[in-house]
Amino acid sequence: MPRILLVEDEPAIADTIIYALKTECFEVEHALTGRDALEFHADQPFDFVILDIGLPDITGLEVCKQLRESSSVPILFLTARDGEVDRILGLELGGDDYVTKPFSPREIVARVRAIMRRADQGRDERSNSSAAPISNSHLAHDEKSMRIVCAGSPLDLTAHEYKLILVFLRQPNRVFTRDQLLDHAWQDPGAVTDRTIDAHIKTIRAKLRSASPGTEDLIQTRRGLGYAYVPAS
Ligand code: CA
Repeated sequence: MPRILLVEDEPAIADTIIYALKTECFEVEHALTGRDALEFHADQPFDFVILDIGLPDITGLEVCKQLRESSSVPILFLTARDGEVDRILGLELGGDDYVTKPFSPREIVARVRAIMRRADQGRDERSNSSAAPISNSHLAHDEKSMRIVCAGSPLDLTAHEYKLILVFLRQPNRVFTRDQLLDHAWQDPGAVTDRTIDAHIKTIRAKLRSASPGTEDLIQTRRGLGYAYVPAS
């Protein structure tokens, strides 16, 4: 579960953002001041920072500058002024994006997702370039034929089933929410629902079971969160 640090001194704004993020299964810590934010992050680094520019002690820009000395954590700025200066400064300092108040909590969640996806893709590309084969004793990806091999035999998969398994194989043990799986494996995630994911997982499990009877489910359900691929030991 990605941990997010929200740095915002206005309680009403903070509450709506925290609520929206928690609904989407993010873990959120809240700092009211810049110094608290730096301290929290030094204590236990976060996966993402949402940073208000107007803070009571040091500005969000200063917080960003100090964070950037030791961290490349994605940063989304919140700004009250629609001024170019804020924007340029923010992005020059190594912020990843910004939103201008007033904004909807949904907009924040969408930005967080988009920035995280970009960061993930960057990581995937870097790890793919080292050409590490994706495989373990039970599941392997045959890149040339674009097939998934389970216990030695290639699976007969639909395109979406194939893409879903690839998402899991690239990050074993990571829990993916249904939204994240939709984002990764569907070109137009808006056209399908959470139930679509559940239905696909069900057929994938059935195919894995018939290819390798007696093995535990490799795709495991994390109740209330989503699914994770847990390699057979
Ligand atoms: Ca403020």
